[in-house]
Amino acid sequence: MQEATPETAAARLADVNAQIAAATKVARRSPDDIRLVAVSKTRSAEDIEPLILAGQLWFGENRVQEAAAKWPALKGRHPQIELHLIGQLQSNKADEAVALFDAIHSLDRPSLAKALAKAMRDQGRTVPCFIQVNIGAEEQKGGCAIAELPALLELAAQEGIPVAGLMCLPPADIEPAPFFALLAELAARHGLTSLSMGMSGDFSTAIMLGATHARIGTALFGARD
Ligand SMILES: *Cc1c(COP(=O)(O)O)cnc(C)c1O
Repeated sequence: MQEATPETAAARLADVNAQIAAATKVARRSPDDIRLVAVSKTRSAEDIEPLILAGQLWFGENRVQEAAAKWPALKGRHPQIELHLIGQLQSNKADEAVALFDAIHSLDRPSLAKALAKAMRDQGRTVPCFIQVNIGAEEQKGGCAIAELPALLELAAQEGIPVAGLMCLPPADIEPAPFFALLAELAARHGLTSLSMGMSGDFSTAIMLGATHARIGTALFGARD
C-alpha cells in the first residue's frame, strides 16, 4: 500500500471497506455480497471493541481456546456479532467450537465432520461450515485434498451438516489468483455459493474471483507481534 495506514480502528475499517467496494465495482458485484471477517486472533478485547463500535459485525478467530477466553464477554455486550472459526480444529474440540462459533471455515476431514455433526445434534444447534480445500496441495497445510472433496461433501450431507461453501489459504509468496479461480470452479461444480478466500495482502484479487468472505486481520489491526 502506498498511503499511510490510518491511525484508528474506525479509519482502517473504512479504508478496507472502501477497497472492498472498489474491487466489487471492477467485478460488477455488489459490496453487500461480501462479508468482511475481521481476524482478531492475538488481539485483546480492548483492540477489538473499537471495531465493533465502528460497525463491524463479523469476526474470525483461529483457536478455540483463545476465542473462548475473549468472546463470551464481548458477545454478551454485543450480541449482534457473528464469530467465525478460521483455524484448524481438533475433533475433541468440536463440542466447544459448535457452542462458541456461528460459522466454521475449517472442516477438512471425515472424522471432524462426524464430530461436528454429533456436537450439532447434541446441542440442537446448526453451524454453517465451509470445507477447507488444500488448494496448493501443500504437505504442511490443513484442508482436504481436491480429490477427496466429493466424498467429504457427500459425508457432510449424510450427517446433516449445512455446507455453506469452500475455503482456502493459497501457497505463500506466489500469485494467488489461479488458486482462487480453482476454488471458485470447484464450488461451482458442486453448486456451492460461498467462497472464503482472501486475506490482507490479496483480498481485492479474491473478490474479483468470487470471494464472498474475506478474512482480514493485519489491514484492520496492524501487524501482529
Ligand atoms: C491470520 C489469518 C488470516 C488473516 O491474515 P492477515 O494477513 O492478517 O489478514 C486469514 N485467514 C486465516 C486462516 C488466518 O489464520
